[in-house]
This record gives sequence, structure tokens and C-alpha cells, in this order.
Amino acid sequence: MPSRFRTLGVVTDTRPRRIALNEAQFREINESLRDSLDRLAHLPEQLSFVCECGNADCRETIAVTPAAYEAARADPLRFLVYPGHELLDAERVVERHEGYLVVEKFADAARIVEETDPRQRRSSR
Ligand SMILES: [Zn+2]
Repeated sequence: MPSRFRTLGVVTDTRPRRIALNEAQFREINESLRDSLDRLAHLPEQLSFVCECGNADCRETIAVTPAAYEAARADPLRFLVYPGHELLDAERVVERHEGYLVVEKFADAARIVEETDPRQRRSSR
């Protein structure tokens, strides 16, 4: 890797890290969507979320039931992605559903996605 990718001894841009950070960013978007839905008296049967894949340019949306979203979110390593958007060198598919997949990050990205989990931050406050 060229030295310009290293800043002050910190490795700033490895592929797993970049993927994990992209996914964490999409998760943030979905968590604020989810929070805003708490104001509704009745949740719709299916919620529309953004695909949480590792591609920063992805604009795909997925339809997920509130229960399925909560189930995936209960594990900081799990992300919801559009079918075909799984990155098999960074994660494995743990569930396949109509219109979306649940993927689980490999251990090398685990620390990043755990640290950036809004729910972890919330509970440590
Ligand atoms: Zn995607």
C-alpha cells in the first residue's frame, strides 16, 4: 500500500475498514428513520430502509418488517442489504428474505461496526 494512505501511523484506508464504515453510515441513516417512526401510533407493516451494503454510492432501498429490522439490529455485526449487495470477502449471508438479505460482518470489521453502533453508544451514555 502506498505510504500516502498512512497518516500519522494510522492505517486509514483498508478495504474491510472502508466497507465497515460505509455500512455503519447507512445504519445511522436507518436508525434515525426508525427513531422518527416511533412518533407514529401504528407502524406500517413494512418499513422502507436504505440498503446497508459496503458501497458508499448505493441508493437501493429495502422493505423490511419492523420486527425483522429490530431482530437484525439486536446484533451490532448484522446489516440488512439488497440481494446481490453482499460483499462476501467482508461478511457472510445469515438470512435470505424476499427483497433483502441479512449479512454478518467477519471478525476483522467487528470492532469498527461495534464502536459505531448507535445503540451501543446510547446504552453507554
Ligand atoms: Zn447496497
